[in-house]
Amino acid sequence: SKIKAGELIEPGDSDVVELAKRHLVQPWPYAGSVGNEARALIGEGDGIYITDGSGKRLIDGPAGMWCINVGHRREELAKVMYDQAMALSYNTPWYTMNAPSAELARRIADAAPGDLSHTFFTTGGSSAVETALRFMQFYNNVRGRPEKKLILSRGGAYHGSTYLSASLNGRPRDRDWMDGADELVVKLSSPDPFRRPKGMSIAAFSDFLVDQFRDTIARVGADRIGAFIGEPVQASGGVVVPPDGYLKRIREICRDNDILYVSDEVVTGFGRLGHVFASGDVFGIDPDMITFAKGVTSGYFPLGGVIISERLLEELRRSNHPDALFGHGLTYTSHPIGCAVALANLDLLEEGVLAHTREIAPYFQARLKTLEELPLVGEVRGLGLMACVECVADRESKDPLQLDKDVGKRIDAHCHELGLLVRPLINMCVMSPPLIITKEQVDDMVAILREGISRTMDDLRKEGVW
Ligand code: PMP
Repeated sequence: SKIKAGELIEPGDSDVVELAKRHLVQPWPYAGSVGNEARALIGEGDGIYITDGSGKRLIDGPAGMWCINVGHRREELAKVMYDQAMALSYNTPWYTMNAPSAELARRIADAAPGDLSHTFFTTGGSSAVETALRFMQFYNNVRGRPEKKLILSRGGAYHGSTYLSASLNGRPRDRDWMDGADELVVKLSSPDPFRRPKGMSIAAFSDFLVDQFRDTIARVGADRIGAFIGEPVQASGGVVVPPDGYLKRIREICRDNDILYVSDEVVTGFGRLGHVFASGDVFGIDPDMITFAKGVTSGYFPLGGVIISERLLEELRRSNHPDALFGHGLTYTSHPIGCAVALANLDLLEEGVLAHTREIAPYFQARLKTLEELPLVGEVRGLGLMACVECVADRESKDPLQLDKDVGKRIDAHCHELGLLVRPLINMCVMSPPLIITKEQVDDMVAILREGISRTMDDLRKEGVW
């Protein structure tokens, strides 16, 4: 009774299905269906809606992959991309530069916390994380600290799909069947309050996490640890909002131990929590580097980047190694079309979308929270316009209903029929709609999700598995 992603395909799409099966390798494929798999075909997007291959209109619940922040079909953005392509579609960043990237870097520096002053642009989130960590290696080599390279990362983290970024991922299924740079990474617990040890208060859980952080540094040695990387709110790990004050305490410990704090804002940056960056404006921290992607262009162009502290750059400039080379650059670093559309996207965010997000977020969270009335739902949690509905077999044991039950996919299949695309994550459903969503649309989304979960409960009962 396993639901396969391909089952969502409607009749009438058969040509595309055939082509996809013959020629596409989809992301995260299982060996048994690799290169032979079709997924729900999306034809069009408009605002918070997408239309599938059969013409059915769906609310884009995950906003693509947390990224369509200002919504689909924004003519302002399309036009900027066209105009920029007609003016200058590309220039080599090796020995030339363009105006949109310099202007975007200035706007980013203005919005960023602390002394984060300069941006290195990449092609997405993985390459941003990779850049930040290679920069840390370079920085410590130049400072004569070649042994200071280990990276602290946490359970539940997702930082990317390139070799080093994937090595930091905390969910086993993202990397169980591949190798990683394990010798460079030290893993810490996930800061997930829902899964804290039984009987422990949230405050005590926060202390536990901070103690573990300190103890790990003491055990491994601060002189061997180059960086800590963490998402302010773990996104793909199930929208894990950390205990109050925990990130600030981690930030201070990093500062005390000369460990660079890399805040991975690939999901939280550019509006998802109501601000351009959440590190400073939501969590009150000033990281040494911030990585971003996704919402920077609202998904209209593959762009990401890492913002770097002035202090680090100044230290390099004043080092004894003025000729040491940061041998790192991408063909599409500072891409003019990406940077131009990001500028227009930032205008939209700053001229209203951020304020709207801050205003509607409490309503969005409160409406979703009502789903906790359903017995299959263990917890609804979130912040800003990102939330997660976590299903459990039983509230006492919090048994997550293991993979074979495919609860997230079952809910997604029902919701698809009812007009909502859900992002299933094993036993969880993640909701992160375009930030322009209205209250009425939130009501529609929650009503469909409620019905989708109810139908799933009926199915599970009928099959006798719940
Ligand atoms: N960091 C975080 C927090 C992410 O959620 C993601 C992607 N979901 C990445 C990094 C990797 O970004 P990309 O897929 O653009 O390479």
